[in-house]
Amino acid sequence: MRAVTFQAPGEIRIEEKPEPELNAADDALVRVEASGICGSDLHIFHGRVPVEPGFTIGHEFVGTVLEAGPDVERVAVGDRVLGCFHVACATCATCLRGDYHRCERGRTFGHGSRLGDLQGAQAERLLVPRANLTLRRVPEGISDEVALFAGDVMGTGFHSVVHADTRVGDSVAVLGLGPVGLCAVQAALAAGATRVFAVDSVAQRLEMAGRFGAEPIHLTEEDPKGSVRAATEGRGVDVVIDAVGDPEPLALAISLARDAGTVSGIGAYAGRGEVPLGLAWLKGLDLRLGLANVLAHVDRVLDLIVAGKLDPAPLVTHHMKLEQAAEAYDLYDSREALKVVLTP
Ligand SMILES: [Zn+2]
Ligand SMILES: [Zn+2]
Repeated sequence: MRAVTFQAPGEIRIEEKPEPELNAADDALVRVEASGICGSDLHIFHGRVPVEPGFTIGHEFVGTVLEAGPDVERVAVGDRVLGCFHVACATCATCLRGDYHRCERGRTFGHGSRLGDLQGAQAERLLVPRANLTLRRVPEGISDEVALFAGDVMGTGFHSVVHADTRVGDSVAVLGLGPVGLCAVQAALAAGATRVFAVDSVAQRLEMAGRFGAEPIHLTEEDPKGSVRAATEGRGVDVVIDAVGDPEPLALAISLARDAGTVSGIGAYAGRGEVPLGLAWLKGLDLRLGLANVLAHVDRVLDLIVAGKLDPAPLVTHHMKLEQAAEAYDLYDSREALKVVLTP
């Protein structure tokens, strides 16, 4: 089978690989019919996340179950399924608390041996461990490219909103309008936020957030702090979501939140930097950080997609073939695409 593999920073290649085979009673084998390229794939592409040369990458997928082990109960051979970006054991102490994203035996698709040695989804076939937890049937009438958001990007945007305990009537600001930020805009509105301020410096992304019902604010051509203060009688918003994941947006988030408000950091923070902790303390802010618990949210996210409350379809800007993967990564890297969907 053909698979998209990491070779060296800036270099990916299509390689012929052996067909994966079931190893465990709760494994499933999936014929991948659509896979997404994601921001975290770019970290691998640039060598910031170390992955062995020849490792198959990709972690967002929709396809059909070709084989299932005897313990697989939730899905059956022939089912059209979507997957979550990682697998969890469901039995460790963290999983038993429902915190699947911190599973002690968690494994992430397409992230090399350091994250569980699980070959990726940008391939013709994919071995899926713990299929009862990892896979869901795609609901009737939902397209492949929409379904693949449920197990990753939309699940992450949704997490940033529920993790902040966003309530009906809240005001929300979302910093960074990449795919996760745009999904957070939709999820905040679905959660009942009355006003959502969307901050970025890319005109098309601001425009899309506006179409979703947010109030766009240009990061540098406007004054986000002044605009948010003016709109909230000087108080700031109830919830700020940082979908960038750097000290600078986190500092802005702290300044935009109202006293005793919540800041939800969903972007992947790396390295160190200056954050005004004194201001966060003084304001009594609740800071909530970390990777999304997508396995815990995927059913609700799918229900919201079916109900039309969440709709990631406009985020899919490019469709390409698996063999065009090298070109697709260059395109995604140039930030011209919001979401590239690869099909075999
Ligand atoms: Zn992803
Ligand atoms: Zn676990």
